Amino acid sequence: MSTIYCIIDGMTDPSFRTEDYPTLSSMRLDKYLETTPEGYEPESLTCILRLLGVRDIPKKMRGYVEALGANIPVHPDDLILRGSWFSLDGAGRCVAPVKAPKKWELPAGVFYYRLEDYKSLLVLRQHADEIDQLVTTPPYASTGQPAERFRPSGSSTLEELYEMALHKKKCMILWGESVPSRIAPFPERAAVICGTNIVRGIAKLLQMDLLHVKGATGDVDTDLYTKTQETLMAAKRYPFVLLHINGADEAAHRRDEKEKKAFLQKIDAEVLPALLQSGHRILLASDHTSNPINGQHERDRQPLFIGGCKRGSDESING
Ligand SMILES: [Zn+2]
Repeated sequence: MSTIYCIIDGMTDPSFRTEDYPTLSSMRLDKYLETTPEGYEPESLTCILRLLGVRDIPKKMRGYVEALGANIPVHPDDLILRGSWFSLDGAGRCVAPVKAPKKWELPAGVFYYRLEDYKSLLVLRQHADEIDQLVTTPPYASTGQPAERFRPSGSSTLEELYEMALHKKKCMILWGESVPSRIAPFPERAAVICGTNIVRGIAKLLQMDLLHVKGATGDVDTDLYTKTQETLMAAKRYPFVLLHINGADEAAHRRDEKEKKAFLQKIDAEVLPALLQSGHRILLASDHTSNPINGQHERDRQPLFIGGCKRGSDESING
């Protein structure tokens, strides 16, 4: 028997009720977990690492883990930042995320990579030592904010990049500065099923085996059936399988409460029954709260549900 840990990204919100999901209701609410440590933002990298039992989490790591997930080569002395692209109105205020450009001519030693949608990564070779003097502003709640508010400081190269990306109709917000860091490998042989880049990066960071799943999109259009089947197959070969499902978080960012709930109901009807009937021990938790009213992540303790077969006592890896 294996453990399958199903992490539903951004599952909870102020109007989330377990009773709305019959299969989830059949699982036992074990406890509430502190997934966002003091001094950290409630975001998937930190929260998922906490769910996986990691205690010492370097603070400036997100861009690096995104780079791992996207197979982007990084050197130990690289500075890595996220670049999020937004459209601007006539007064230079952010309107909405826009697709990141495919290519971008940049000065020597700076490398640009487009990720999905509006996301990109910038790798600045031999700039790692600038990390502590940098000041950047994450694009949370950027709608209606002047692009100027997101101008970085503390690095002439970054300031120049911001200027180069600033056009009449769009801008790139540079943030999430990070440098390569190490974390102890996950203590068990483990497989990861996911469709989102950050979780691919987490798999590599913790030396878990990343299984390729066709049709895993990281959004509500993901192929839940195939993900579930791949998870069950992996559980035959690995003592621990992480199944990450991302769509509810994306729907919450789109401020679409209905879409979020409908997707959670789909998981409840199509994924959870198969997991619970598999004979494996099933853990289920959300990494953080994603509020579809304001489109933001929120800092809350998260319920941990347990179901399926029991393994001795119900000790979980979350402490
Ligand atoms: Zn999110």
